[in-house]
Amino acid sequence: MTTATPKIEAANPFENALQQLDRALHYLDVSPGMAEFLRRPHREFTVNFPVRMDNGEIQMFTGYRVQHSIVRGPAKGGIRYHPMVSMDEVRALSMWMTWKCAVMNLPYGGAKGGIIVDPRQLSQGEVERMTRRFAYELIPIIGPDQDIPAPDVNTGAQTMAWIMDTYSMTTGTPSPGVVTGKPVSVGGSLGRSEATGRGVMYTTLRALKHLDIPVKEARVVVQGFGNVGAVAAYLMQEEGATIIGVGDVSGALYDPNGLDARDVLAYARGHSNLIEGYPKAKAITNEELLTLECDVLIPAALENQITAANAGQIKARVIAEGANGPTTPEADDILRQRGIMIIPDILCNAGGVTVSYLEWVQDRQYFFWTEDEINSRLERMMDEGFYAVLKIAQDMEVDMRTAAYILAVRRVVEVAQLRGFYP
Ligand code: NAD
Repeated sequence: MTTATPKIEAANPFENALQQLDRALHYLDVSPGMAEFLRRPHREFTVNFPVRMDNGEIQMFTGYRVQHSIVRGPAKGGIRYHPMVSMDEVRALSMWMTWKCAVMNLPYGGAKGGIIVDPRQLSQGEVERMTRRFAYELIPIIGPDQDIPAPDVNTGAQTMAWIMDTYSMTTGTPSPGVVTGKPVSVGGSLGRSEATGRGVMYTTLRALKHLDIPVKEARVVVQGFGNVGAVAAYLMQEEGATIIGVGDVSGALYDPNGLDARDVLAYARGHSNLIEGYPKAKAITNEELLTLECDVLIPAALENQITAANAGQIKARVIAEGANGPTTPEADDILRQRGIMIIPDILCNAGGVTVSYLEWVQDRQYFFWTEDEINSRLERMMDEGFYAVLKIAQDMEVDMRTAAYILAVRRVVEVAQLRGFYP
């Protein structure tokens, strides 16, 4: 397997998240006490728990859940299974969820969780037992009105079904609304599995229109070929764009005449979800992928991929952040000076939490909408988010990330002030 280690310069994503917040606070009239309130996660939970492995041995795991904010509503955010999960990563991701929900005007705060694990080393039964035990440990702090988990890296609809079942069996109350991103038959929403990639596509189309780049002439590169990246790739292709490069943890592929994203996905599905060895394109490295000459670069893998080390070589005109935190603040400065438009993560990948919100609303009313209804609501909501952020960027002459933060922080502060501080 080709190595594809992410370049980590700012190893601490929470430091990055705080720097991004500070940039927005610079434009806002927020008291020092309120700023500190925004900087500090509301609640942090760590649990060490045992799981019986298939060979009969006990293995210990560490899991986290951080609720950054519950000001605008119940906490909301995904659960990630990855060997690099850390408390600071989860803190950063939970804070980004607060801003993302606020940018989209969803009635939620922000949360995130994770377990330090490489699930590919575990059997399906071991993953299920680990998930159920973690879900059991989370019961005091999650719930449809408290904190609603969802899928993230290496978790999916099946993981959510196990969490929903564990919660429902333990509390004695069938509770589909305790998690989103469930299978449709378990109370999930049509359109949820594609929602994040679809939102990336909608915001990218708006950015191309803003820059007067016809989508049919747009060359697109996608890093990360999972829930977000693969869907964004084939939806952009269906809109007429040419997908010239895609990459995942096993390496990257390049074809200047265009890859067929659905064909690559079908290949990956038959090869442990990896694109390595796909025969109809040239193999390149992940470093080469990120610096290909293109119109749109969609980082859709992990944090810290676009750093001070490679931002100077990026040749895209638009960066659509499918992943959370793919660009470091240092790289942001370089890209802004070079005139590259960034659709920031808290806007670009908000399609997932938006359809999660629609799923939760459907679960609470036990009444379900068609996929067309979901997609058209999603498009309208992404549109509102995109143009609200663009307007602030233009009016205040700031970059799109700072504009998105200004919008989000304003909304959180407004509610915090109206509610006041208990008691
Ligand atoms: P996923 O596990 O489905 O896919 C991740 C992809 O990234 C895989 O193709 C993997 O091979 C690749 N990858 C991992 N490490 C890599 C590396 N070092 N170099 C290159 N590629 C690498 O995860 P996902 O759900 O698609 O999430 C991807 C990103 O999008 C994450 O940052 C996540 O937080 C964010 N996100 C996901 C959702 C969602 O609904 N799933 C919503 C919002 C944001």
